[in-house]
Amino acid sequence: MSFDYDLFVIGGGSGGVRAARISASEYGAKVALAEEYRMGGTCVIRGCVPKKLMVFASGFPSAVADAQAYGWDAHIGTFDWQAFRSQLDAELTRLEGLYRAGLDRAGVTVFDSRATLADAHTVQLADGSKVTARHILIATGGTPVVPEKWRDMGGITSNDVFLMDRLPESILIVGGGYIASEFAGIFNGLGVKTTQFYRGAQILRGFDEEARGHISDEMCANGVDLRLGTDILEMEPREGGKTWVKSTTGHDATYDAVMFATGRKPNSDGLGLDALGLKLGKGGEIPVDKFSQTTIPSIYAVGDVTDRANLTPVAIREGHAFADTVFGGKPTYFDHALIPTAVFTQPEFGTVGLSEEDARDQGPVKVFSAAFRPMHSLFAGRQSRALMKLIVCAQSDKVLGCHIVADHSGEMIQLAGVAIAMGATKADFDRTLAVHPTMAEELVTMR
Ligand code: FAD
Ligand code: NDP
Repeated sequence: MSFDYDLFVIGGGSGGVRAARISASEYGAKVALAEEYRMGGTCVIRGCVPKKLMVFASGFPSAVADAQAYGWDAHIGTFDWQAFRSQLDAELTRLEGLYRAGLDRAGVTVFDSRATLADAHTVQLADGSKVTARHILIATGGTPVVPEKWRDMGGITSNDVFLMDRLPESILIVGGGYIASEFAGIFNGLGVKTTQFYRGAQILRGFDEEARGHISDEMCANGVDLRLGTDILEMEPREGGKTWVKSTTGHDATYDAVMFATGRKPNSDGLGLDALGLKLGKGGEIPVDKFSQTTIPSIYAVGDVTDRANLTPVAIREGHAFADTVFGGKPTYFDHALIPTAVFTQPEFGTVGLSEEDARDQGPVKVFSAAFRPMHSLFAGRQSRALMKLIVCAQSDKVLGCHIVADHSGEMIQLAGVAIAMGATKADFDRTLAVHPTMAEELVTMR
């Protein structure tokens, strides 16, 4: 049977672009890719990149306050959201162009269109035209979910934040995951009166408990009105786009904006998978094996749509492994066991491996933990404390987890992650000479 393409990729985000580019440029496959919105996907257009730039923007007031303590005659002035936004838009357009150019150089045909599946080898574009391919890769990502009760009541999601016309004076953020906690820090840093409701006992469920408590204390000390064990009870739109909210803990207030960061769902609706007999998981995720192959042999899926670990580097690795496996003749899969990650809260959280709680469930452990005021902020008169923590297997001495709450901990955890991926023991950490004076030296001096 002959096909129009060797591979058709649906979705031009982190996973799809990597798979398309490697399949075409390294393995000579004839590849097409369809993207319905903007090339680059969530990470580039409405995720990691604009979020991190907002984190940078929100850090200047405290940097200027520190500068004063260091002897500078520094004043912060006011923040011009429109100026920031137009710079941001230009940067995202530049990055989008780089993604397109990369696909173009690799010889990938791009369709600026929504695509769905007509059968196991056929993709249908929005204009009704059909294209056939030997293999189809679904890399359609995910979408924010607002609890049904509060839909169509004027709340926003992370998708809307980057498109706001003005910065709100006050915001309520609902949720306690990565996105809620990161944006609480961002808005607070930008001078927005920020309240965060989290329904559970502590934000960032699933991570190391001591680290979660530390982050939450620091966020509160920085000015976020974080209300734990709290959810929305009632919500009503008010004049001027404001929203009145009554909480389950009896607090009521009117906010300029309400942002829901209450999770995301895979973009698998309406793709035509049902008709093909491809059964979705409970949350709408596409089930795949370790090689990202679905139950239909010609159809694969990578990235957030499979809801394995919803991070950009994971989607990229899954996309690359797909290309190596299907077109490179090298069966390859990404091992999801040890994923270093950073939550860009303020302070930042870098983490890899097991939490203390998960490690204890597996056997006896030794825990090394230090909370201290780092030199930079101590001198500036800030009360903030850093946390460094190592979880070590009591039997093998292997480092099972590393958790850092401190400025730039994302950078630190990247490197600690290399050692831990190599199977480093606590003795290996101990015999590594400290770099002085740094915060990270604590990792090799804790006894
Ligand atoms: P996506 O990047 O979402 O790409 C999917 C693409 O498919 C989209 O462009 C979409 O328009 C397109 N599409 C969907 N359906 C169709 C269709 N039927 N036809 C054609 N095109 C279609 N991860 C990190 O590692 N670090 C971070 O700091 C980080 N920050 C984040 C911040 C926010 C606010 C969010 C929302 C996410 C963040 N993430 C972060 C997660 C990261 O963005 C995702 O894990 C990653 O983008 C997933 O890549 P993907 O290829 O699976 O999907
Ligand atoms: P998460 O799943 O991490 O968090 C969702 C939060 O919303 C949880 O605190 C959850 O509470 C709460 N929640 C869910 N439903 C409701 C409800 N009905 N009412 C009230 N609260 C609710 O999702 P996010 O949207 O924060 O992020 C999605 C994913 O994107 C992350 O898991 C991560 O993989 C990725 N991401 C990565 C980033 C990074 O690498 N720095 C940054 C941003 C996103 P509960 O805990 O009780 O379930």
